Amino acid sequence: MEDRKTAGYKVLPVAEGLCFQFFCDLSGAKACTTQPVSAETPEQALALAWDREGRMEFNHCGNCGRWVSDAMFNADVLECVACSPWEELPRYCPRCGKKLSAAGQHCPKCGAPVRDEGR
Ligand SMILES: [Zn+2]
Ligand SMILES: [Zn+2]
Repeated sequence: MEDRKTAGYKVLPVAEGLCFQFFCDLSGAKACTTQPVSAETPEQALALAWDREGRMEFNHCGNCGRWVSDAMFNADVLECVACSPWEELPRYCPRCGKKLSAAGQHCPKCGAPVRDEGR
């Protein structure tokens, strides 16, 4: 898959230049609308708008290269949730730090009780 430079976007021409709306590559949700940018070419305007305002709204998936919003990003592995769904997040023992399987109420190494927090 191509490594995209920016998230999906729409251009909104306004009197002062071009505004850009950036969209999450995964959910399609609008993440932001930038201030008007004026530049010599639409490509330059896009790059400016992305650097100034767009990029900070997004996370770059290290696997597929998509730009996704926080809600669609698994920050523990730096990949989008299409590549690393939440359900497969590893859990760790709060006492000894051993990686745990999805099921089970106690750590198999030290026997500490493991709570399912917020699930
Ligand atoms: Zn991905
Ligand atoms: Zn443990």
